[in-house]
Amino acid sequence: MRAQPAASHFVDGSYVEDTAGAPLDVVYPATGEVIARLHEATDAVIEAALASASRAQADWARMKPVERGRVLRRAAEIIRARNCELSVLETLDTGKPLQETLVADAASGADALEYFGGLAATVTGETIPLGRDFVYTIREPLGVCVGIGAWNYPTQIACWKGAPALAFGNAMVFKPSETTPLGALRVAEILIEAGLPAGLFNVVQGRGGVGGRLTTDPRVAKVSLTGSVATGRKVYAAAAEGLRHVTMELGGKSPLIVFEDADLEDAVGGAMLGNFYSSGQVCSNGTRVFVQRPLLGRFLERLTARTEAIVLGDPLDEAVQMGPLTSAAQMEKVLGYIEAGRAEGARLVTGGFRVQREGFYVAPTVFADVTDEMTIAREEIFGPVMSVLAFDTEKEVIARANSTEFGLSAGVFTRDMTRAHRVITEIQAGTCWINSYNLAPVEAPFGGVKLSGVGRENSKAAVESYTQLKSVYVGMGPVEAPY
Ligand code: NAD
Repeated sequence: MRAQPAASHFVDGSYVEDTAGAPLDVVYPATGEVIARLHEATDAVIEAALASASRAQADWARMKPVERGRVLRRAAEIIRARNCELSVLETLDTGKPLQETLVADAASGADALEYFGGLAATVTGETIPLGRDFVYTIREPLGVCVGIGAWNYPTQIACWKGAPALAFGNAMVFKPSETTPLGALRVAEILIEAGLPAGLFNVVQGRGGVGGRLTTDPRVAKVSLTGSVATGRKVYAAAAEGLRHVTMELGGKSPLIVFEDADLEDAVGGAMLGNFYSSGQVCSNGTRVFVQRPLLGRFLERLTARTEAIVLGDPLDEAVQMGPLTSAAQMEKVLGYIEAGRAEGARLVTGGFRVQREGFYVAPTVFADVTDEMTIAREEIFGPVMSVLAFDTEKEVIARANSTEFGLSAGVFTRDMTRAHRVITEIQAGTCWINSYNLAPVEAPFGGVKLSGVGRENSKAAVESYTQLKSVYVGMGPVEAPY
């Protein structure tokens, strides 16, 4: 299996290699096989990326927004036409099953390009009358933006950051996760094919050090990170040195609350989607599933039966529903959390082991009798491990759901809509679902509160994230100076 790109980086409109950079092997998680050999960006590559982005951004910002939007919409069409090929690459890069990548990755990236392509020309300022004088405002681009990605949705993250940045007149230098560097290169290639001028979307590879170099460069106006809270703290602090704008899409330990009147199959399906999709490597996962006590027995019974029917295997087989974790290190981390769950007295209902086959597979795992203070109920696992916790009253479950440093997401399953709205109003989370889970359409704002993040991606809210206001006072009469 080979997935070697033409070169490691994409800078100023073409593939660029510099073998002086530290090697970066890309491993196919389903077999452990090295499928591509790349190099980290050297100082020369980083310099070329930032210099070309600065140069190209000035002209791009002067272009008519409707023309910028047209380029993005053309890129969306090319992505859709090449969805199959891009999905196979995403599966090789991440190990996620083709069944998922065909619908959730490049397709979601295309949605972002289409949406922001359409939004580009709608961004306007306002006029503020002041009697004789007036003020008008202009929404201007920020300049050169840096995007730094996580490894769970490499193509989607490149598009979710790149599309709004470009739509509103910025340039972007994107650094994918070192674990999944392939998808973003294709996005860069496709943007050029769609007519994007060279230099506006550059991809440079590397580990945290390369991300750090980009974050602190004086030419950079903004940093948008998708990653863990630990990295978020570092990147936010580094960006603050230069008073750069930030968007932080970080981790979570989100609550999913199932009331006794919920539709059982929907609630079980929602909990499974919110824990096992992408082998549980989704930031918004509802990993603390609170079930009201009268429903608990039936919930666990159906959950166990449906979980044990999950088809796990070769991710390139479209019938397979669950693939491996993205890396050996992540698999070890997840197995460590499963051990902690056992050791701290949680009851293992199903799964709980490494699957005996090549690759980094962990069986979908459910723990019951989980209590709030257990490690598996407090820390983000980022793997297919669901914790089920029992509750009695609405007041109690709201307090317990909020008792976490995170605040990315939350879900409620109930047939009582009044209760659903009442509970969601009280929950400290940025992205919530009622009788649904983990759907993240580009039309809706996405992001977290508390330690889960700063700012919002997607939707019209992204205009705020990638523009700044200039206000212009216009004097219409004589200047009244007291001198
Ligand atoms: P990570 O924090 O290890 O790495 C994220 C990115 O930051 C990588 O590209 C990495 O190279 C880079 N990086 C690391 N140190 C850096 C530094 N000092 N300066 C600049 N860049 C640096 O995260 P991960 O393991 O790749 O992804 C998993 C995490 O991402 C989970 O916590 C998950 O919840 C989170 N996540 C959040 C969202 C969201 O939208 N909220 C989406 C996906 C993943």
